[in-house]
Amino acid sequence: MLVVMGHDATEADIRRVVKVIEEMGYEARPMPGKQRTAVGLVGNDGKVDSSQLESLPGVLQVIHVTQPYKQVSREWRPEPTVIDLENGTRIGGTDVVLMAGPCSVESEAQILTIAHRLRAAGATILRGGAFKPRTSPYSFQGLGVEGLQLLAKAREETGLAIVTEALEPETVDVVAEYADIIQIGARNMQNYPLLRRAGRTGKPVLLKRGLAATIKELLLSAEYILAEGNGSVILCERGIRGFDDHTRNVLDLTAIPVVHALSHLPIIADPSHGTGIRSKVIPMARAAVAAGADGLIVEVHPDPDHARSDGAQSLWPEQFEELVEQVAGIAAAIGRRLAPPLAGVPA
Ligand code: PEP
Ligand code: MN
Repeated sequence: MLVVMGHDATEADIRRVVKVIEEMGYEARPMPGKQRTAVGLVGNDGKVDSSQLESLPGVLQVIHVTQPYKQVSREWRPEPTVIDLENGTRIGGTDVVLMAGPCSVESEAQILTIAHRLRAAGATILRGGAFKPRTSPYSFQGLGVEGLQLLAKAREETGLAIVTEALEPETVDVVAEYADIIQIGARNMQNYPLLRRAGRTGKPVLLKRGLAATIKELLLSAEYILAEGNGSVILCERGIRGFDDHTRNVLDLTAIPVVHALSHLPIIADPSHGTGIRSKVIPMARAAVAAGADGLIVEVHPDPDHARSDGAQSLWPEQFEELVEQVAGIAAAIGRRLAPPLAGVPA
């Protein structure tokens, strides 16, 4: 529920609303806005009797959020959430943000080579897994903390922000120490202790849609992070299980306009995991931007044939350059632009 205060509401009026909400046994979240302040009521699992609040001085209106996800919904916050990273990248505004990099961090040479190449091509965020969720326990599981340190080195040299996955609640804090954005992978979308823990770091979280998750389940998972007081969540459509085996997954691009209608959170697309096939990545990247994606996360490797994970879907660097050129044109056609490349000369 949302208590909207009038233009002339005083600080004391707002404090009284907070107090009454707390006395009712719920949590109050004051949200000062450009036009006026609203006070969110959280902690309820059903309709709340609002009569007591409606009659308080300064209260303009009480809005009952009808969706099961509350803080994630557009009813809660009509204007889009924009997440500002330290390197100047803004996620969720009019810019279309490019995140790119290998599936896994494999070595210093690999990550530094690709980071410089991606930065030159116009990406502003570097992806790379240090803790990898692999289908087989015998597959490469990632370099762990050493991988995080290599990502930090790449950031230092290039200025690219880092997005990398946290696989377990126990390693969230170490990932948060190095990452600009904590990735929660598809397999962990409903790992609620992990979501809570990532939420508590206060760092932006990239939440990928589960392999067989509905959009509603994705939004409810995001709600776990917002419920911890962390509103910096980026959703990601990365393909869901289908019955056709021509592609690894079915990239559900409808999710993009559907999420934009239901939620103020940004949503990006992952055409790499969405297709699993290198030659299908550029066409689906174009389509995702046309559908309104706020960004793309793309796997790119300096030598995909020898990648330790997901080589078949990893682009060659020159293909990424081609992708950037093509999606720039699509973004312009719908009144958007690619996030401006980082300024200055890399170290
Ligand atoms: C990845 O980004 O490399 C990854 C494992 O993605 P997902 O969780 O979408 O499978
Ligand atoms: Mn991968």
